[in-house]
Amino acid sequence: MAIMELLRAYRFALDVTPVQVEVLQRYATAARCGFNFALGYMSAVHRVWERGHDRLVAEGMSRAEANKKAPRVQVPSAFQAQAWFREVKGCPFIGPLPEGEEGREPFPWWEGVSSRAYYTAFDDASTAFRNWRASAAGQRAGARVGYPRFKRRGGRERFRLVHNVKKPEIRFTGPRRLRIPGGGGQAALTVRLHQSARDLVRHISAGTAVITSVTVSREGHHWHASVLCRVQQSIPDRPTRRQVAAGRIGADLGVSTLATFSDPLTLHSHTRAVEAVDNPRHLENTRRKLARAQRVMARRYVRGAAQQSKGYLEARDRVARLHAQLSARRASALHLLSKRLVQQYAEVALETLNTKGMTASAKGTMEKPGRNVRQKAGLNRGILDAAFGELNRQIEYKALWYGAQIARVPTYFPLSKTCSGCGWINQEQTLKDRQFHCRDCGLVLDRDRNAALNIKANATSIRYGSEKTPGGGL
Ligand SMILES: [Zn+2]
Repeated sequence: MAIMELLRAYRFALDVTPVQVEVLQRYATAARCGFNFALGYMSAVHRVWERGHDRLVAEGMSRAEANKKAPRVQVPSAFQAQAWFREVKGCPFIGPLPEGEEGREPFPWWEGVSSRAYYTAFDDASTAFRNWRASAAGQRAGARVGYPRFKRRGGRERFRLVHNVKKPEIRFTGPRRLRIPGGGGQAALTVRLHQSARDLVRHISAGTAVITSVTVSREGHHWHASVLCRVQQSIPDRPTRRQVAAGRIGADLGVSTLATFSDPLTLHSHTRAVEAVDNPRHLENTRRKLARAQRVMARRYVRGAAQQSKGYLEARDRVARLHAQLSARRASALHLLSKRLVQQYAEVALETLNTKGMTASAKGTMEKPGRNVRQKAGLNRGILDAAFGELNRQIEYKALWYGAQIARVPTYFPLSKTCSGCGWINQEQTLKDRQFHCRDCGLVLDRDRNAALNIKANATSIRYGSEKTPGGGL
């Protein structure tokens, strides 16, 4: 056993009273407005540079030259934004106000809210700005990051509070009670958790877990708290004897079928082991309902109206509720699957994950034609990519928790065309064929299962360096 420190998120549904909902909404508003305040300040300063740059370009200088020659500005940090905010928050508006609004405060949102809710948002604005600059300068890997955008009203309600070690105001006051700091003359808020946090509370009092931050957000009609903790977790050096006896499992992650395995997997102790996991039926149903609800919402939307109809608001509520339901159900299906794989086998073999978007082209390339093209095209790409990536991510970090290993098949391997029995390649195998036919050894097998067997037989074990600290939820 080795002890490893990792970041883990614990998510709880909250049972909140209407009064508490009002407070949470106020925090979320302060976080949104705080983000916008800081971003406004930062981009105003940045615009000074931009104007200087544009003037040089107008005078005939090349863009690259102007980039270097334009007078430098120092875009304010989150800390400077804080200082600026403290200076201006009590000040009245400059200039005349519309009638009836005399004496109105420019920043009413900070009152009755813990300052940490909006100061954290200042940090977020600063991070967003930095990421954009690094990305524009080519110093950041991955997809290009766009210029940070202001958060509009009616978007997702959420706020984050960072734990203060010197003044630990975020804490559990019982297995089902989470206390978050108050502010601006408000008392601290103690919210009831829908599930028990007993295990986490025990960890915290034993000193093996420390709260780092808490993010509170609304999904549909429900509020959730995601408590991020630094956890001392014991990591097994090796798999158990049972895992070793089971050996390696190959898993073909798909779309119509969530996963197809080379060997049986027990999902629930009271049920039979399975060789494939369907995309849960209810997910498909919810997805269909969601598509319908979105159409209703779109139909009821009146462009340019100052206020949308009651029917529209109802439809919008329904969409939000279904969204929340869908993501909660999908998450639990993925968590169960990923956990069982690494619990029961010493090694999990998978296809290499194409990080540049699994379904960027469902059709694939000549060398590597995409599989499941039809299903991929018919489904929401975003949802699909998220599920693929998420499942891969979960299997990877959970493998470590259970002493299991990951093996990957190279991307060029013709998984669906190769016979898992004899290695013969069926060039005529098309995307439409549900079955694999081997004309050499006569094997007839479900296509996905054939792929899973190929993954098992052809994957190479991956050893992670010690620098890799995986993190993630349960
Ligand atoms: Zn064969």
